[in-house]
Amino acid sequence: MPLALVVQFIYSKVCKLSAKPEFIEAAKSGNILARKCTKCGELHLATVYFCKKCGSKGFEDSILKGLGKVATYTIMTVPPEGFENLAPYAWVVMEIDDSDIRISGFLPKIVTPADLPIGTPVKITGFDERGIVLEKQ
Ligand SMILES: [Zn+2]
Repeated sequence: MPLALVVQFIYSKVCKLSAKPEFIEAAKSGNILARKCTKCGELHLATVYFCKKCGSKGFEDSILKGLGKVATYTIMTVPPEGFENLAPYAWVVMEIDDSDIRISGFLPKIVTPADLPIGTPVKITGFDERGIVLEKQ
């Protein structure tokens, strides 16, 4: 599978969770709103009914710092309709520090892979109509 397709697949999996208003508010403050299992401490991004690790149904909100590293990304030089004036940019899958949570976001002004090596530290800086906005740390 070409990398771009893989990224789009990951994006479609992780993007759904970013729709909730309280999640968006947290992202605007540079944070991630996660659901923490009260039994085992496992963190989940989406609204879940059972802990994927221990099966418990108890959760509490947990605010994570929106800091992490680039896990993978794809550069959008030919953006979707409506995003033309924003290209080139990268859809980044970011691995959040001190967790196994991955989240995708938008990093402007990325032209070539040399601009964004895998592992580059990035941070969440906001949320707009494109989704989560990232910046290099
Ligand atoms: Zn659990």
